[in-house]
Amino acid sequence: MLAGGTEVLVEVKDCRRLSLRLRADGRPVLTVPAGCAWSRAMAFLSDQEQWIRDRLLVREERSRSLPPLTPELARAFWFRLPSVFERWEKEMGLRPSAVAVKDMSSRWGSCHPVTKKISISFRLAQYPDECTDYVVVHELAHLRHANHGPEFWALVERYFPEHKKCRAILRGK
Ligand SMILES: [Zn+2]
Repeated sequence: MLAGGTEVLVEVKDCRRLSLRLRADGRPVLTVPAGCAWSRAMAFLSDQEQWIRDRLLVREERSRSLPPLTPELARAFWFRLPSVFERWEKEMGLRPSAVAVKDMSSRWGSCHPVTKKISISFRLAQYPDECTDYVVVHELAHLRHANHGPEFWALVERYFPEHKKCRAILRGK
């Protein structure tokens, strides 16, 4: 699907509202409730064309201000990450079964609800250290709550009250 010359990914979900977001790699994703009329989704998307253009512009400006992801930067990140996990595992009393550092284009981290394995995107290396702390706290919190419900956010808030600021930085705001 296209909006203003930009390719938009479409996902159909069991949700109530149409929504639009940018993935970490900048690709717009339109979430469509199951059973929603195609024409309604198209109308929604054309209403949001300006939003997409604005967001992409902001991203472009931001990516110019980010340090380039050099092998040295990725290496330093890779060496720093275990101590970040160690600190928050101790503080939160939660421990994943394994941690993997990956090139994830669509998210900053993930936590498998069954295997308890956490993956972290090495693109975080380009952001301030506190953003890595936030993502680690976020994924550790998923070991207790495998959702983004109020209890999950209360847990994140308890250990990392600056989460809103970091989320905004990672969203490019
Ligand atoms: Zn999450």
